[in-house]
Amino acid sequence: MGRAFLYVILGGGVAAGYAALEFTKRGLSPGELCIISEEPVAPYERPALSKGFLLPESPARLPAFHTCVGANEERLTPKWYKEHVLGTRVKSADVRRRTLLTATGETISYKILIIATGARALKLEEFGVNGSEAENVCYLRDLADANSLVNVMQSCAGGNAVVIGGGYIGMECAASLVINKINVTMVFPEEHCMARLFTPKMASYYEDYYQSKGVKFIKGTVLSSFEFDSSGKVTAVNLRDGSRLPADMVVVGIGIRPNTSLFEGQLTLEKGGIKVNGKLQTSNNSVYAVGDVAAFPVKLFGETRRLEHVDLARKSAKHAVTAILEPEKTGEFDYLPFFYSRVFALSWQFYGDNVGEAVHFGDYSGSTFGAYWISKGHLVGSFLEGGTKEEYEAIAHATRLKPAIEDLAELERQGLNFALTV
Ligand code: FAD
Repeated sequence: MGRAFLYVILGGGVAAGYAALEFTKRGLSPGELCIISEEPVAPYERPALSKGFLLPESPARLPAFHTCVGANEERLTPKWYKEHVLGTRVKSADVRRRTLLTATGETISYKILIIATGARALKLEEFGVNGSEAENVCYLRDLADANSLVNVMQSCAGGNAVVIGGGYIGMECAASLVINKINVTMVFPEEHCMARLFTPKMASYYEDYYQSKGVKFIKGTVLSSFEFDSSGKVTAVNLRDGSRLPADMVVVGIGIRPNTSLFEGQLTLEKGGIKVNGKLQTSNNSVYAVGDVAAFPVKLFGETRRLEHVDLARKSAKHAVTAILEPEKTGEFDYLPFFYSRVFALSWQFYGDNVGEAVHFGDYSGSTFGAYWISKGHLVGSFLEGGTKEEYEAIAHATRLKPAIEDLAELERQGLNFALTV
């Protein structure tokens, strides 16, 4: 059994949705495009799962956040998706023959393939701890995870949650749990939260804010084991430092791993992802990779990176489709890394790279503050909490310009004004 398509998008997440939108904008003939997705629903804006979806009042629910609602672009209708999505898992791929074999036993052949398989949440078992299958241990990567997190949360009102991991999933979930009136303790091995991005000064602001909302932090240690009741539910969390935390529920956010396994040994990999060039094309001319799974050249830094951010998923997908349809007219992907988060009443944006020396600015006891990162005499990264649209645009613009910075004290004195006037 088999079918052939001109274009196949493998994956049904954010990048897949934006690639599909770009194809439709440029005009598709019937039967040209197939999206293969193992998710039971059409592509949606994944960031909503740790924000609006977890709210106790008027939570966000599909179809409200299907792509491409988030970017204020026209939405691909459920009917459109129904006609174009094959709802199954791809079990194996043969890049030389240009075929994919699905779990339903169908062979799909393509002329051009876009890999948009994203990533999966790392499991505790990969760190030697058992218990992921317990009904009150939650992960958060897809809609099924989010539904089960909501159910567990609703059954724990007034109870205790332990959040494992101090990255953005941990931080956003902890905030949502508090809003749902659950007592939260966050546990992570680093010295402070968001260790991959925040400086100690920035982290201390957010940790103080969280503590004012009742969140407790246990830092510098990791989970060593769970205690279970007779039904297999977790009742307590044991930490390597010897402490024991009673728990009605656990949320685990300890990182992700790109879904590359179908292509290992067939395409060149780098930085844990599928290596692509400036047109998002892999080591095989007929295959492109976008979103979380792609390791792409960041022109601004002159090196290959893999980024796990929604903006990259959207823009890389769009660029790949443009490169496929208009190869002569399409230049190299020139992406400014961008990441954001929203928790409680807080909201921040980050652009560029957080390497070199950090210069903090603004009022760290108030509500608007930020930092620049200076490397090799140039501004390479900017962070801003509590900015206006214009201010965020200004830090993005300043970061892209990579201006030379001679006097760090002067930059600190100018603060946000530097970005607004550069
Ligand atoms: P995904 O959206 O993960 O899509 C991958 C798709 O491929 C899925 O549909 C999957 O089922 C499918 N798939 C995989 N393998 C197969 C297979 N073999 N066969 C069939 N289908 C397959 N980023 C931000 O910048 N800001 C945020 O605030 C933010 N919040 C987030 C909150 C949560 C809860 C999560 C999970 C992520 C968040 N992100 C955020 C990250 C952002 O959502 C991702 O970077 C983005 O979803 C990546 O898009 P993608 O299409 O590459 O992967």
